[in-house]
Amino acid sequence: MFFISNKKTKSSLVSKEKCAICSEKIKLHYNPMDEWGIKGSICGDCYSKKINEHYPGEHVRVNKHLD
Ligand SMILES: [Zn+2]
Repeated sequence: MFFISNKKTKSSLVSKEKCAICSEKIKLHYNPMDEWGIKGSICGDCYSKKINEHYPGEHVRVNKHLD
């Protein structure tokens, strides 16, 4: 349940960092693994997707609907 309607563009207390994959503002920072070839931090959703791409079956699949 990560759906937020009408995001406000407050700059305070919000990380300016954007996800290296989807360019969304990062709520939770994840560091991509070196072998993924990604520079910068990524968001939880993309991290989850990458995990599934690179290590299928080894993790519980969440956010599968985002594929
Ligand atoms: Zn992302």
